[in-house]
Amino acid sequence: MPISSNSVSDILDTSSDQSVYEVFKAIFENHPLPFYACNTEGKIIYFNELAVNLWGQVPKDNALWTGAWKSYNSEGVLLTPQKNELLDCLKSGKEDGSKEILIELPDFSLKRVISTPKLFLDKQNNIVAIHNTLVDITAKKTGEKHSIFTDIVKHAYNAIISKDLNGIITSWNLEAEKIFGYSEEEMIGQSITKLIPKDRLEEETIIISKIKSGQKVDHYETIRLKKDESEINVSITISPIYNNKGVIIGASKIARDISVEVFHQQAFKKYSENLEMLYSIGKAISEKLDVQAILQKVTDATTKITGANFGAFFYKTTNSSGEEMMLYNLSGTSHEVFDKMQIQKQTSLFQLAFNGNKPVRISDITQDSRHELTMPYDKHLHIKSYMAMPVKLNSGKVIGGLLFGHKEPSRFTEEHENILSSIASQAAIALDNSELFEEIKSLNLKKDEFIALASHELKTPLTSIKGYLQILSRSTHDKEMSKLFVNKALIQADKLESLVSDLLNVSKIEAGKLQFNIEVLDFRQLVIESIENFSYTSRSHKVVFKDNQSPLIVEGDQQRLEQVIINLLSNAVKYSPKSDEVYVSLLSNDNSVSVSIRDTGIGLSPESQKKIFTRFYRADGVNNISGLGLGLYLTKEIIERHHGNIKVESELGQGANFIFTLPLYKKT
Ligand code: ADP
Repeated sequence: MPISSNSVSDILDTSSDQSVYEVFKAIFENHPLPFYACNTEGKIIYFNELAVNLWGQVPKDNALWTGAWKSYNSEGVLLTPQKNELLDCLKSGKEDGSKEILIELPDFSLKRVISTPKLFLDKQNNIVAIHNTLVDITAKKTGEKHSIFTDIVKHAYNAIISKDLNGIITSWNLEAEKIFGYSEEEMIGQSITKLIPKDRLEEETIIISKIKSGQKVDHYETIRLKKDESEINVSITISPIYNNKGVIIGASKIARDISVEVFHQQAFKKYSENLEMLYSIGKAISEKLDVQAILQKVTDATTKITGANFGAFFYKTTNSSGEEMMLYNLSGTSHEVFDKMQIQKQTSLFQLAFNGNKPVRISDITQDSRHELTMPYDKHLHIKSYMAMPVKLNSGKVIGGLLFGHKEPSRFTEEHENILSSIASQAAIALDNSELFEEIKSLNLKKDEFIALASHELKTPLTSIKGYLQILSRSTHDKEMSKLFVNKALIQADKLESLVSDLLNVSKIEAGKLQFNIEVLDFRQLVIESIENFSYTSRSHKVVFKDNQSPLIVEGDQQRLEQVIINLLSNAVKYSPKSDEVYVSLLSNDNSVSVSIRDTGIGLSPESQKKIFTRFYRADGVNNISGLGLGLYLTKEIIERHHGNIKVESELGQGANFIFTLPLYKKT
């Protein structure tokens, strides 16, 4: 089966003897074994039918030295156009006899073959060609075993690679191709170091020295490089390969892709680290009662966890005059730098997070098209990624927000959000506790102030009473004078009595023992009488009353309700020293009646309005006006016990209007 009609004569054209040519041709044609011939370049110039059967294919046009799809030497090393038994024979000029080789068929099956290359020499002993006789010994020697084994290797789920003692790769299976991305052709003959990251090259030296000394490297977890230069986590087991004389000639390496396991391991490690961190933050902040210390701890820890270039904790608080303000603590940068960052605290990014709706992440501020969310690109720190997170209480109340920035885009992930939200809620609780603590502290201060105030308030009428009594004891002859002083003493005694009864009532409320004597009564009448009674004692102000003219029946305690009206009227007079009128009006509908007691006095700030109904509270600037800060607390308690409510409408400097509402009595 000549490749071209004159191939054989090409080989033998050195022979002028036609009969010799004929003899050779006949020998080739009738050769009983697979047989082929190559020129000195390796091009196949002749092969017989038996060779085609053995190779399982007709040799390709560009086939060199063999028509087989692939062949290996007896150690399993791939034979290449540069390294094979025919070339060895040609180069050395010696016929070394038979070599055992493996031929791989296109269907991946293997044949074990004895290859016996021989040289064609011309008359001058020049090599003109080489021919090879192949003897299939597969069945004889290994039966099916080897091919099954090779199949297993080939299709194994692990990468199976063999290399010689210089680290040159000699075999490479399909899984190796999958894991590392290189094909068999690309890797055979290459150094294994192609797969090893530069900073791990040392590993190969250690591995080879272990192999040379006959040791196995078991389940060694490391990192290798893929064709696309990305890193891959692998577990490798490397064992020495021995030839049939027991000499170590290379190593077989089984590599398993453990990226997923490593990913999970790392995720788990990170998770436990985060947990530990969370625990320590939680512990640290719950032990602290100082707002500043909590803010700083949380800012530092969250900035560290997110790997941010800077972190800021904005914290809403109220100053001593009741104004809301925003404090911020920083981590990773200084106040000086941060102030230059042009971060406008009012940007919509903040608003969104601070309004408590949800965390906001921006992967690249320079590319973000959501204009309503953008923060100005900061030219100072070159921050690109942003993340903002509300810090809120379980009740939903937002008490602040965390903001993080990173110079690189897409630095903040959902995972960060999750961890941060749990820190944020712990921080919120801790801050709330610390506020409570501050409040208690200030309540304590208030209590001390109260005791001082109470002693002063109680002492003042007492001093007056004592004074009047002393005068009386000295001037008993003047009856008119005596009457005047007795009256004055009585007024002061009343004042003293009302102060003491306020105090007593407060302690009864505290003990849950404030008694009510409930009856059905005409509330309009009660208001009119209370105003009358009050008018006797108040000389400075006139009470202007706007009546609704019809009876209003309520169920209540007459005395207590009168106390409410007198309290509100006294306050209206007390806190409008520059005017001479206070106004009372009655308003009703089918279900309820409202009383408005209005003055044109000093009024109340919004912050004070929130606090006036608490015990001991007195607004700023009323120190020159006597009082214990208990009247409104009692008033509110009494009204609420009547299923009513009380509110105040006021502006500082513009007077105050106290309106309380009670349900009307309905006969059942
Ligand atoms: P007291 O008048 O004894 O201080 P109250 O409980 O009656 O205590 O009032 C609490 C505080 O509320 C007062 O100290 C005062 O600051 C403020 N307040 C009450 N009524 C008025 C009012 N009509 N106008 C302005 N401020 C008022």
